[in-house]
Amino acid sequence: MSYIYSMLVKEFISETNRNQMISILLKHYKVESVKVKTKSMKDHAHFNVDTGTLELSTKYKTIKTSQVKSFLITILHEINHAMDAKTFGWKLFKEKYEYEMNLQITNGKHEYDDNKYEIQAEKFGQSMWKYWKTKFKKDGLM
Ligand SMILES: [Zn+2]
Repeated sequence: MSYIYSMLVKEFISETNRNQMISILLKHYKVESVKVKTKSMKDHAHFNVDTGTLELSTKYKTIKTSQVKSFLITILHEINHAMDAKTFGWKLFKEKYEYEMNLQITNGKHEYDDNKYEIQAEKFGQSMWKYWKTKFKKDGLM
C-alpha cells in the first residue's frame, strides 16, 4: 500500500460506509419504520418534528475523519428524536415538542437550549458516539 493511498483510507469515509453506518444505527435503535428522506443540507441529519421525518444530508458524499465525532453525535441526536416519535407517534410527539418549546419561552428560557427533548437527545449523542466509533472502526467501516 502506498503512503498516499493509506492516507486517503484514513482520512475519508466512503459514502457506502457512511450509509451502512446509518442503517446499522437505525436498525439498532429500532427506528427503521420512521420516514427517512435525503436532502441537501448543512447538518448531517435533522429530525423534522413537523412531518415526523428523519432527514439525512446528501451534502457529505464522503466524511472526513475530523468530522466523525460531529457526524455520529448528530445522527445519534436525531435518532433519539425519532425514537421519541416512534414511542408517542409522530403527531403526539410534535404536540409534546411544541408544548415544551412554548413552556420554555413562557419561562423566559431558550426554546431549544432549554428544551428537555433537545437536552435528552444531545446527552444521548454525547454518551454514545465513542462506543459507535470504536465499533465501526473494529468493523472496518471507518
Ligand atoms: Zn434536536
